[in-house]
Amino acid sequence: MDRLKIHDKYFVPYISHADISAAIDKLAARMNNDFRNSDRAPVFLCILNGSIVFTGELMQRLDFPLELSSVRVSSYSGVTSTGVLNTVVGLNSNMEGRTVVIVEDIVDTGKTIRFLHDHVLERGAAEVRVCTLLCKRDVYDGDVPLDYVAIDVENKFLVGFGLDYDQFGRNTEDIYILEDNQ
Ligand code: 5GP
Ligand code: MG
Repeated sequence: MDRLKIHDKYFVPYISHADISAAIDKLAARMNNDFRNSDRAPVFLCILNGSIVFTGELMQRLDFPLELSSVRVSSYSGVTSTGVLNTVVGLNSNMEGRTVVIVEDIVDTGKTIRFLHDHVLERGAAEVRVCTLLCKRDVYDGDVPLDYVAIDVENKFLVGFGLDYDQFGRNTEDIYILEDNQ
C-alpha cells in the first residue's frame, strides 16, 4: 500500500481511481438525462482549485450544450475550516435567468456552497443545482439540496484528485485519507 507524505503528514489510499471514474460515470449519466432537453444551456461553475480535476472529468462525459465558468472561494486553511469565506473571484458569466450548476470537490460544513448558492441567485440565476464529487454527510447540516453527489465519505481529511493539503497533493489519480493518530 502506497503511503503518501505531504508536508508533515501521512496519507493512505482511500478511493481508487477506478471507483472515482465509475462514480463520475453514474453521475454524468444522470445529468445527461436531466439536462438533455433543457431550453437554455446551463452554466457549470467550477470552484477553484479543488474542483478542477473533477470538473475536467465530468465535462468529458456530458453530452448537452453547457457553459463553463470558474470561481475561487475558500474557507479552509491547513486541515480545518476557518469558517471565514472570501469573496467570489472570477464570476463573469451572465447568470440572468440561467440554471447554474455549482461543481464542488467536497461538501463538508456546506458553508462554501451556501455562500455561492446565495451569491449566484443574487446575480439573477433562475435555479441553482449543486454537484459534488464527495460529501461528508455526517457533517453537512445545510439546507441547500445536494442534487448530484458522486461519493459519500467519512468525516476525515482527504487529499488527491484535486484536493490539497496546503496546496500540495492535488495531482494524484486516487483519493487518500489522513492516516490515523495524526
Ligand atoms: P465547506 O465550506 O463545505 O465546509 O468546505 C468545503 C471546502 O473545504 C471544499 O471546497 C474543500 O476545498 C475544503 N475541504 C473540505 N473538506 C476537505 C477535505 O477533507 N480535504 C480537503 N483537501 N479539502 C477539504
Ligand atoms: Mg473547495
